[in-house]
Amino acid sequence: MHILSFDVEEWFHLLEHDAVRSEHSWGGFDRKLPRMLDRILQLLEETESKATFFCLGWVAREYAELVRKIDAAGHEIGSHSDLHTLIFEQSRQEFREELRRSKRSLEDVVGKPVRAFRAPGFSLVPRCSWAFGILAEEGFEVDCSIFPARRAHGGFPNFAASGPLRIRTASGELKEFPMNTARIAGRNMVFSGGGYFRLLPLPLLRRLWSGSDYTMTYFHPRDFEPDQPYLPGLGPLRRFKSYYGLGNSEAKLRVILKEFSFESVAAAERRVDWAAAPVVEIG
Ligand SMILES: [Zn+2]
Repeated sequence: MHILSFDVEEWFHLLEHDAVRSEHSWGGFDRKLPRMLDRILQLLEETESKATFFCLGWVAREYAELVRKIDAAGHEIGSHSDLHTLIFEQSRQEFREELRRSKRSLEDVVGKPVRAFRAPGFSLVPRCSWAFGILAEEGFEVDCSIFPARRAHGGFPNFAASGPLRIRTASGELKEFPMNTARIAGRNMVFSGGGYFRLLPLPLLRRLWSGSDYTMTYFHPRDFEPDQPYLPGLGPLRRFKSYYGLGNSEAKLRVILKEFSFESVAAAERRVDWAAAPVVEIG
């Protein structure tokens, strides 16, 4: 089972960076999302792949046509929060309100229920695992926010999961599709998304995909856009992580999409035997 997903945000939606922390600052940057997304939609059409696009509520308000276009091409629309706010920086009430705004904005545009969620920066971490209960209460049925390794903005490092599972909360259950990891250079690492995908060479990526029964991807439109400005004020490591490998990432993705068969979260959900899936109690 190989699941294809994109987190739909602008090139400047980098996390924990003062220049872009508030929505007010976003008006000062060039917009690139329509062009970046068009190329992705074209690539998916060419390789006959279907995906889930986790969109910000902000994207639905700013680019309603674009979200409708993704939906009309047969892909699934999920929520990536409203304004890309890290969950662990929010109170429960703030998270709930942000979630509602996002769901409402996206549903207004596509005219169908938005059921799946992915946290910005995988910020659904153990200390804010109360968020699972709020997701269930707000009508979400599927979550894709668990990153079972260490990372800068989040991660669930000790989460033992190697495929789909059920998360049981006091407010109901969620179907969880966590990120997958592989043993690379003696460490558990994610390879199927973002900077990791851009960094690793194609022969290794092909080997890793061949050796995995379950993969969950997380790409961003900016991962495939070599022609994007540098955000001012990034340190050297952050700059490397954010901009490395942009020149050939689309070519790498094309090869992977042609060699392996990918599906959306919703399509994968229909194929899982949920009664037999592991259950984890959280929150
Ligand atoms: Zn994001």
